[in-house]
Amino acid sequence: LLNKPIIIDKTPVFIGTSIGVLFSDERYKSADVMLRDADTAMYQAKEKGKGRYEVFDTSMQLKVQNALALEADIRQAIDLAEFNPHFQPIVRLSDNKVVGFEALARWQSHKRGFVYPNDFIPIAEETGLVKSIDLQVLEKSCVALKEWEKSHQCEEIYISCNLYCEHFFRPNLPEEILEIIQRVGIKPAQLRVELTERALLDNKDVVLENMNALKAIGVKILLDDFGTGYSSLSYLHRFPIDVLKIDKSFISNIHDQDKHKAIIKTIIDLARNLNMATVGEGIEHSADADLLNEMDCDYGQGYYFAKPMSLQDVNSQQLIGKIL
Ligand code: C2E
Ligand code: MG
Ligand code: MG
Repeated sequence: LLNKPIIIDKTPVFIGTSIGVLFSDERYKSADVMLRDADTAMYQAKEKGKGRYEVFDTSMQLKVQNALALEADIRQAIDLAEFNPHFQPIVRLSDNKVVGFEALARWQSHKRGFVYPNDFIPIAEETGLVKSIDLQVLEKSCVALKEWEKSHQCEEIYISCNLYCEHFFRPNLPEEILEIIQRVGIKPAQLRVELTERALLDNKDVVLENMNALKAIGVKILLDDFGTGYSSLSYLHRFPIDVLKIDKSFISNIHDQDKHKAIIKTIIDLARNLNMATVGEGIEHSADADLLNEMDCDYGQGYYFAKPMSLQDVNSQQLIGKIL
């Protein structure tokens, strides 16, 4: 019945439907609870591609409850400042010298223990909480830089922080970052930000304005995971990107597939022609590092050099400026 078009002003209008089905059950004492569960099943139907029905079962409820509990814990963890950066060295491939670090969020939860980003970033993105996590990680990274500056008198070392795409849709982003830089007292050139193509997809003016404002402050901009999304050349031309990070999926196959090699070489040459530097991500073997270096990739990062590690480990291994 619902599939039939509805004629409005002689024009057929089609509607789509997703339906959540629920069987009555002794558990249900109120209509509200039944509607809630039917709604859960309906959202499941939408998630599975819409235009279909799903019958409620308790595992759906469990999934929703788990997500809600995780969201509540993330909110609390933001207040308790439980998110910390771990640092993965970025090396210059010509001599393997550590020139900077990528800050990667880790959650030291008093309830859940040590949690990796894949287990909290997706829900944090869905709920918008990721923005607070990003700023917490960024601020703690600036504090680490300040510490290194005092202990090593090195002003060249930088930290590169991941920012969720929606940050770039907010006009006050550059101001907030500048405020953190000034409050902690680091040089803006010591901070870099990584964004993914998701931020650039809609060609929003505000994104371009924010990127320009960050560059004007002196913060460099890296395009993360390049090669996995649309990899549109027009982005590279339109947006002021300083560094391209070549996604680890290319690097992990660099030796078995000539096609990957050709793509990587093309990205490196393209970046060079546009005055951008390149970082190869996910380098796990010395041969990968050698090959990338031969291909004129400037920098590299990966388990071959070092895994992401705590601030204490960076300090105890004396990684600042070290040759790996
Ligand atoms: P990403 O920004 O592309 O970070 C690189 C990921 O690759 C990290 O995973 C890192 O640990 C991993 N990696 C580094 N070297 C190697 C290697 O040699 N081999 C392999 N297989 N993996 C390697 P991690 O730390 O689990 O982070 C995953 C993703 O979560 C990040 O990907 C980033 O998209 C997101 N993320 C992490 N921290 C933050 C954050 O503070 N804010 C936001 N918005 N996202 C973050
Ligand atoms: Mg990154
Ligand atoms: Mg990446």
